[in-house]
Amino acid sequence: MTRLMLFAGVMLAGALCGCSESQPMADRDAAPDVPAAGVPLTLAQDRAGRVSDLRYELHVTIPDAVTTPVRGTVTVRFQLSDASRALALDFAGPAASVRDVRAQGTAVSPTVRDEHVVFPASALRRGANELTLSFDSNDLALNRNPEFMFTLFVPARARLAFPCFDQPNLKARYQLTLDAPAGWETIANGAEQKRTTEGSSIRRTFAETRPIPTYLFAFAAGRFSVETAERGGRQLRMLHRETDAQKVARNRDTIFDLHAAALAWLEEYTAIPYPFEKFDFLLVPSFQFGGMEHPGSIFYNASSLFLDPSATTNQKLGRASLIAHETAHMWFGDLVTMRWFDDVWMKEVFANFMAAKIVNPTFPEINHELRFLYSHYPAAYDVDRTEGTNAIRQRLDNLNEAGSLYGAIIYQKAPVVMRQLEMIVTPDGLRDGLREYLKQHAFANASWPDLIALLDRRTPEDLAAWSRAWVEEAGRPTIVTERTEGGGVSFRQQDPIAPRGLLWAQRLKVALGNGSATELQDVALRAEPATAVAGTENAAGRYDYVLPTGGGIGYGDFVLDSRTRDYLIAHLADISVPLTRGAALVTLWEEMLDGRVAPPALFTTLRAALPRERDELSIQRMLGYTQQLFWKFLSDEERRRDVAALEGLLRRGLDTASTQSTKSAWFNALRDVALTGETVGWLERVWKTTETVPGLTLAEPDFITLALELAVRELPDWRQVLEAQATRIQNPDRKAQFEFVRPALAADVATRDGFFTSLRDVKNRGRETWVLQGLGYLHHPLRAPSTEKHIGASLELLREIQRTGDIFFPKRWMDATLSGHQSASAALVVSDFLKGLPKEYPERLRRVILSSADDLMRTRRIRER
Ligand SMILES: [Zn+2]
Repeated sequence: MTRLMLFAGVMLAGALCGCSESQPMADRDAAPDVPAAGVPLTLAQDRAGRVSDLRYELHVTIPDAVTTPVRGTVTVRFQLSDASRALALDFAGPAASVRDVRAQGTAVSPTVRDEHVVFPASALRRGANELTLSFDSNDLALNRNPEFMFTLFVPARARLAFPCFDQPNLKARYQLTLDAPAGWETIANGAEQKRTTEGSSIRRTFAETRPIPTYLFAFAAGRFSVETAERGGRQLRMLHRETDAQKVARNRDTIFDLHAAALAWLEEYTAIPYPFEKFDFLLVPSFQFGGMEHPGSIFYNASSLFLDPSATTNQKLGRASLIAHETAHMWFGDLVTMRWFDDVWMKEVFANFMAAKIVNPTFPEINHELRFLYSHYPAAYDVDRTEGTNAIRQRLDNLNEAGSLYGAIIYQKAPVVMRQLEMIVTPDGLRDGLREYLKQHAFANASWPDLIALLDRRTPEDLAAWSRAWVEEAGRPTIVTERTEGGGVSFRQQDPIAPRGLLWAQRLKVALGNGSATELQDVALRAEPATAVAGTENAAGRYDYVLPTGGGIGYGDFVLDSRTRDYLIAHLADISVPLTRGAALVTLWEEMLDGRVAPPALFTTLRAALPRERDELSIQRMLGYTQQLFWKFLSDEERRRDVAALEGLLRRGLDTASTQSTKSAWFNALRDVALTGETVGWLERVWKTTETVPGLTLAEPDFITLALELAVRELPDWRQVLEAQATRIQNPDRKAQFEFVRPALAADVATRDGFFTSLRDVKNRGRETWVLQGLGYLHHPLRAPSTEKHIGASLELLREIQRTGDIFFPKRWMDATLSGHQSASAALVVSDFLKGLPKEYPERLRRVILSSADDLMRTRRIRER
């Protein structure tokens, strides 16, 4: 599974309600064995210990009209080792629809309650069991559209569609029969075996699958076009809904080639042939994720694979990486699956890790080390430096909370940790260990400790201790550089969480630099309270700077020695190696946040470095930091003093940028910070199209953003700007979003307050990206004094936001609420709220607040110093 920004949510908390209201089949008090709603860990453990050799025979009927329910019958066959107790199936579909229930061929009346169908011990027997049920599905996991539907059962949503044991470590063989309207194509995990006509629909029977977990079972049906190709003796099939024949023709061969190349690479790396029977994939319009790795039936977001001729190198790299990622899952996640969703990060990190190895060498023009640094470290630090951080491996008591595991620690920190693991056990050692792991657990389940135990034998280092610090615990080490009197240099690590005293073993690639010359030196920090030393005695004294992150590897909060700090602040742009320069930049940002570099000093450094920077990745990163400094960490006075100079710098950058994408980055930064009459006036002329930006083509979304940015600056004619923009918008979706956001931009406070009040109603929060955009402008730094009063109400709403919204919404809601504020009074509202929290307040939600409020609290500490 790959995260698609802003559309990645799967667990609609509200989605699970309303399914277990009616309980027609049993008396509530007569059922002491009904487990709690969701899939509790205790239930999963009990079933995994009792149930084996599991098979589902599933017959599903998909009607023509989306208003008619999807119906089905399932026969579950398995061996049961202990029939002395009741046994629960999971089912979060309409409870009243469960009918014709049989156990061992005899009609029974199970208890249907709390998202479970519970069979009493009297209906079960030791050894072979056969349970049969008919049911209506809940549409929430079926993604039904007038012309197509597709299932999406990750992490535990199969139970919405049919009764099953919805846990990853009860792998089963599925035999699916699907009745779908005539004219619809279908795709499933198994190959189609038989097709017959049944009235107005077509009945298809698919081959029984190999053992897979419920979250990987999938099917789709609809008006799809089918492309086929043969690669390496294997038949590949692609289903899609694209109507532009040229677009299909332009992309199809590349898409097939990329899959074939990934398959061949993985067969070689794992020494295991592709483990499933066939290889098909479906391109879904507006799919929730980038892709989902159902074996034999991968689902992709269509727009990630069908590229336009104008696609940038980055988009092409993104497509190749996505295909390699999902293909790698066939081994990592599908063949060997985590036992429980607390290890979901493992399959994601391995898929990414393999994808990078497969794809990166085919894009030699990209600085992959620098790209890895920028795309992982800052985002991981954004959470890991805060009090709200969490461990990579988190305890999970019920699968209905699995959605809250996803975030920067899994997607950004875990890959950093995996790279370290490879350095410890060596690339060949890791490959051999993984081969053994896959072979040992094929078509079964394994956990992180299983892999660590296996790799531990291949290295003299204590991997269990390493894993405890990096994977099982939250946070990062503080690593202090000290130059010793004899001219040496040492690195001393500390656990910032005082009583814990954790030590993180890691390899550093330390950059020792003099002017533009840099050399890298390997230093091992071990999990013992010793200091590591770099450079020969009396050597380090010669260096202008000692940068422990210089090789782009080290992870932590690095406290530089003062000579290095002073040098980097004055000479960042002089560092000639792009990776070391990027690492220095990221490290200086952390130094600023910790109060060791003053915000105006770093602001000056960035202004000096930006005009000299040639690397597009670094330009974008520097512009991002500049904007954050400007709005979050400079005082009003400092901002007013420096804005004209900053605007001039950005304008020159825009004029001299050589590519469309860099021009766009400079223009966006300028639009974001513009405050002087001159620049705002110029932006208004650009918006009116009476002036153009040479070399930059602005599209409708750009003009919309421009109009919003002009309005928030309260031009005298802000009303007309918004009105004119509303009439200019052609695309109906964008028009609707614009109208939704518009009241948040009003210059009169009452209208803006009305916008916030409307968000209290869940009906007005359905389009989460719209809500976040409106909330962002409501709390824009220029409006902060008048909107501070809404922070308290926003915090109060957070529990409801979590209950009713998608998995990433609570964090984004808090980020949007707090990002524009830096006042002491705003900080006080948050800290008072945290102090007053009741004991039963959800811990994960408290951490969300701590993490979102971190910049605000730091601004206060820096200011008060
Ligand atoms: Zn994935």
